[in-house]
Amino acid sequence: MAATRDYYEVLGVGRGASDAELKKAYRKLALKYHPDQNADDPSAEEKFKEVSEAYGVLSDGEKRKIYDQYGAEGLKGRGFGGGGGVDPMDIFEQFFGGAGGGGGLGDLFGGMFGGGSNRADAPRRGSHLRVGVKISLAESFKGTERTITLKRNEHCTTCSGNGAEPGTSKSTCGTCHGRGQVHQRQGFFTVQTACPHCHGRGQTIDSPCGDCHGSGRTPQEREITLRIPAGVDDGAQLRMTGEGEPGDNGGPRGDLYCLIDVEEHPLFERDGDDLHCEIPVSFTLVALGGEVDVPTLSGTVSLKVPAGTQSGKVFRMRGQGMPSLHGYGKGNLLVHLQVETPRKLTGRQKELLEEFEGEDDDTPRRKSFLDKVRDLFD
Ligand SMILES: [Zn+2]
Ligand SMILES: [Zn+2]
Repeated sequence: MAATRDYYEVLGVGRGASDAELKKAYRKLALKYHPDQNADDPSAEEKFKEVSEAYGVLSDGEKRKIYDQYGAEGLKGRGFGGGGGVDPMDIFEQFFGGAGGGGGLGDLFGGMFGGGSNRADAPRRGSHLRVGVKISLAESFKGTERTITLKRNEHCTTCSGNGAEPGTSKSTCGTCHGRGQVHQRQGFFTVQTACPHCHGRGQTIDSPCGDCHGSGRTPQEREITLRIPAGVDDGAQLRMTGEGEPGDNGGPRGDLYCLIDVEEHPLFERDGDDLHCEIPVSFTLVALGGEVDVPTLSGTVSLKVPAGTQSGKVFRMRGQGMPSLHGYGKGNLLVHLQVETPRKLTGRQKELLEEFEGEDDDTPRRKSFLDKVRDLFD
């Protein structure tokens, strides 16, 4: 196992370093060694991981305490795993994600090093879209198709997405000189933010297109056919790649996410791939035994009920549940038998049952219960 360098030494701080000192050290080193900034230096990635790990541990009060007392091995022994249980990219994103006044990482690097990749004419992916789709349990059982009509932004056909009235052109923004970004000081750092004049586009439109008012987009109705696979469960999200809004500057389209809402079924309750169904049966059927018709999503199936079956008994019918979304096997159907007591009796039925009651019957649970009640008062 490779020995790890001392975390304090890695960050170049003293053992008593304050949170602010740790932050300052990490900010400097993480930006210096970030792989995106060091494409030609493979050793930078190792250093980046090392500083992120050191910061991830020392910035966490509990981990730092353990580290100070027992070292990196101590963290491992307490279930944090190797490297103090730190994911370098997570640490980096947590650290920088919220900083910089709405700017992304590109802004940060741009601000630190000049240049950067977040230029006004850089390709940008279009927005993702989301729709809800309601299907029945029977449709989920078989799989189905749904054609939905969706209103989404498309490139304006009049100006070809350019935003300028045909025959006119855009001009370079005077505020940012076409860069789309302006510099702003924030504390120690200069960060870049989107130009407030051209909203980051780098260009301004003198005669906006009449159809899209300069946005280059118009909402259009599209018909989209969704293929919904068999076994899909309530709350599932299907992604249709490239069916979102168009990107900018040749960037890819966003995706369309379909949130599946499976309606409740009057007979079946779903639990994963299994279905549950409650079937009311008569007292005579469970006493004498017989057959009941059990509904399934693919037709009716006969179930043999042995004589002497108790109320609440659950029968498992293998393979009569929902198909697995992963394409192999099916769940089971769990049939819950519920004995229903007649609400009214004819004179003849009453007579027969009174005669029945006079006979000695084999009901061990009832007899055991009556014994326990008797013991209670002895
Ligand atoms: Zn237009
Ligand atoms: Zn501008």
